[in-house]
Amino acid sequence: QNNLKNLNLDIPLNNITVITGVSGSGKSSLAFDTLYAEGQRRYVETFSPYARQFMERMDRPEVDRIEGIPPAIAIENTSSVRTSRSTVGTMTEITDYVKLLYTRLGQLHCRQCGNPVVPETPEQVWNALEVLAQGTEIVITFPFSPKPANQAQVWKELRKIGLDRRYVDGQIKPIEECKQGNEKLNIVVDRLLFKPSDRKRVFDSLEQAFRFGAGHLDLWIKPDKHLSFSNQLECARCKITYTRPTPNLFSFNSPIGACETCRG
Ligand SMILES: [Zn+2]
Ligand SMILES: [Zn+2]
Repeated sequence: QNNLKNLNLDIPLNNITVITGVSGSGKSSLAFDTLYAEGQRRYVETFSPYARQFMERMDRPEVDRIEGIPPAIAIENTSSVRTSRSTVGTMTEITDYVKLLYTRLGQLHCRQCGNPVVPETPEQVWNALEVLAQGTEIVITFPFSPKPANQAQVWKELRKIGLDRRYVDGQIKPIEECKQGNEKLNIVVDRLLFKPSDRKRVFDSLEQAFRFGAGHLDLWIKPDKHLSFSNQLECARCKITYTRPTPNLFSFNSPIGACETCRG
């Protein structure tokens, strides 16, 4: 290639390799016109002919053989825009795609328990029920904290739509029988003996519970099992709510993604 002739070379992958030499010795011919050109050429060849027409094509370098070359990125030292925050990722715009990749395809995990955080649907709640033996007693409730001031009014409203019972200490009681104050109540939406054929009824109850519970519901499975569900981006077990990821969350240039403690 150019003035490089009769050269055999082994260059290790996953290492930093520096090519030095006097002016005109062929450093650029090796780095750009040979290694980069071949890496880019082979990468472009993996695309369909249609996609290829939009990509930069490079001439095949004059070499007998190149083996094991991955797709390549080249940044020339003449690139004009450079700041102290530039990286290979920003200059090639790869970080923009990585940010999108994490935002759109990333799986959020709870920072406390490590479980995946996904908005739960009645379908997923049903999956938890399906494993139960037929005839198991289940109670479906939603959490509710009425303000003391307008409790009487709230009870009236709830009774009107048939939600007049609450679940407390494993028992179902009328909602009137609760202390004044900011106590969190579990309002009963449905109580049933589990049958797989009750799917429709259970789904209706789950949807109602999610709606009145602002996205939260609880399942009480006799004798003493309790499961919490949330259709928000939230770990129902740890009660930690997460905001939907945005690309800036993954940007090292944005305070949104920074650590609150060290700003890193
Ligand atoms: Zn958690
Ligand atoms: Zn930190």
